[in-house]
Amino acid sequence: MPVEPVFLATWRFGVDAARVGWKALHDGHSALDAIEAAGNLTEEDPAVNSVGYGGLPNAAGEVELDAAIMNGADHAAGSVGGLCRTRRPISVARRVMEKTPHVMLVGDNAMLFARKEGFPEANLLTDESRQRYEEWRKTQTDSDVAHFDLGPTSHVPPKPLATPDDHDTIGLCALDAHGNLAVGCTTSGMAWKVPGRVGDSPIIGSGLYVDNEIGGAAGTGHGDEMMKACVSYRVVMLMERGLTPTEACVETLRYLLRKRPPKLHNHYGAALIAIRKDGLYGGASTYSGFHAPDRLWQWASATSEEPVLNEGCYVTRETTLKMLG
Ligand code: ASP
Repeated sequence: MPVEPVFLATWRFGVDAARVGWKALHDGHSALDAIEAAGNLTEEDPAVNSVGYGGLPNAAGEVELDAAIMNGADHAAGSVGGLCRTRRPISVARRVMEKTPHVMLVGDNAMLFARKEGFPEANLLTDESRQRYEEWRKTQTDSDVAHFDLGPTSHVPPKPLATPDDHDTIGLCALDAHGNLAVGCTTSGMAWKVPGRVGDSPIIGSGLYVDNEIGGAAGTGHGDEMMKACVSYRVVMLMERGLTPTEACVETLRYLLRKRPPKLHNHYGAALIAIRKDGLYGGASTYSGFHAPDRLWQWASATSEEPVLNEGCYVTRETTLKMLG
């Protein structure tokens, strides 16, 4: 029986991705194709400074991209971590899934794989992202950014490298007309990160997870915390137990906040979107990280040509403000 297509994307900038993703579904493309098309749109947008081309670089000034894609029908998955000088990383992740016996390729060898697959060498810095890096770099001493280069006595600086404004991911969920689900994530990760740092986004079960028999989920936020709770897998498992997508996101964030109470500046942002196999969907974020007016957690949902921007709900360890879905 044909199903009404649904497409979800994290953040306000996800509206354009949701529009493209829904259109692909509406035109009869698979959930997987829709995820890739939507991911590519954001990756190629220089105005989005946390994804693909124009993403903010690591502490050494190099843009390192993380991306992943997963198919709900057969649990096929592909991902890349720390991919440099290559555009459209979610497409490289899909090639890893389809053309190798593996799930994840990282660093220089991921780049080599991309070249062999026909992805040309590309500059990922825009004038704006280079300038932001240069401004940030002026605020850091050499030892701040030396990290593990200083020898055995060195340590990663305890101060946060990125402010909450310096990272985001486009997390994507799709349900196609045949009832198949797929999910994706693509990001430049934390700005000014230690070179080689890979976040939650390309980790199956953390940044994303999907099972056609249940539903799918994807996340954005402080990956170094989120990946300690395998949040996307947990959301899907909670939906399997009967929670709605919104309830599953809320419960997962409460669990995360219990296990990893925010210490740094007393907050961090973590946000999740989820879809159930029958098309019901929802989303939630932590209150303290993503509730400031200039940092409002919003996500896009498309069930027709024009996506809707959703807000909240916001989760603390004890309470939930505004429950949707
Ligand atoms: N989850 C990403 C990371 O930690 C960043 C984000 O989504 O805000 O790399």
